[in-house]
Amino acid sequence: MGIDSLKGEKGHKNWIKFIGTAGARFVVARQLRSSGGLWLSFQGVNLYMDPGPGALVRVLTANPPLDPTTLDGILLSHKHLDHSGDINAMIEAMTEGGYRRRGVLFAPEEALEEDPVILRYIRSYLGKIEILRKHETYSLGDLHFSTAGRHRHPVETYGFNFHLPRATVSCITDAKFHSDLISQYPGEVLLLNVVLLAELPDRQIDHLTLEDVKIILKETRAQKVILTHFGTRMLEANPSKLAQRLSEESGKEVIAATDGMVLEMEEILAKDI
Ligand SMILES: [Zn+2]
Ligand SMILES: [Zn+2]
Repeated sequence: MGIDSLKGEKGHKNWIKFIGTAGARFVVARQLRSSGGLWLSFQGVNLYMDPGPGALVRVLTANPPLDPTTLDGILLSHKHLDHSGDINAMIEAMTEGGYRRRGVLFAPEEALEEDPVILRYIRSYLGKIEILRKHETYSLGDLHFSTAGRHRHPVETYGFNFHLPRATVSCITDAKFHSDLISQYPGEVLLLNVVLLAELPDRQIDHLTLEDVKIILKETRAQKVILTHFGTRMLEANPSKLAQRLSEESGKEVIAATDGMVLEMEEILAKDI
């Protein structure tokens, strides 16, 4: 189904379009998957999450194309390049080249201060900048979302719970697994950034692995779990096959996101929850 048919006036539809599903550096560098992040359209609010390298081009060339000037805000989980590479370009696009001061940027302090990824001259184009902190709730129009605790990740990183009227959509962005992660993301729908197929023997990387996903599936109350942000090994192992196996094992619906995939919340809520 096309995006146009998903857009309502009031009585809007809630959907997520996966502009990109790339995770680790090699996948981004080779563009084995797009590194565009997510376009969220919740409660009539358009919010772009984690515009990685190529996000703007992918948005404009999407089928049907999306219009960045319709964005109400940009949400950055953390400043790593695969999440922030196109953030300045996306802010410029949202603000019509900086000529129309508008839109809200939500970002961790670290993305704005030490070694910032958001250029200082571009910040003046924005209507507002809101600093993300742990366990806070934020609003953009009719959309309300909250952060969980700070993730175990090399830079200041947050995941999100998007509170829709009939359900919560939880999004565990880049994180090393720890047991109290799961209770902080109570959504009926759960997005997981699964970069790693397995722990690397030679070095510790602060990302979820497929084994972590198995633990999460046992404990989460979500009935629909979407895997994204794949590293090279995950892609080689065929994410859709992995997701199918996880569905069979867990009895929950597990989906591997693909570039351009649209997830419609109403269908999920009507059918599955
Ligand atoms: Zn990442
Ligand atoms: Zn990261």
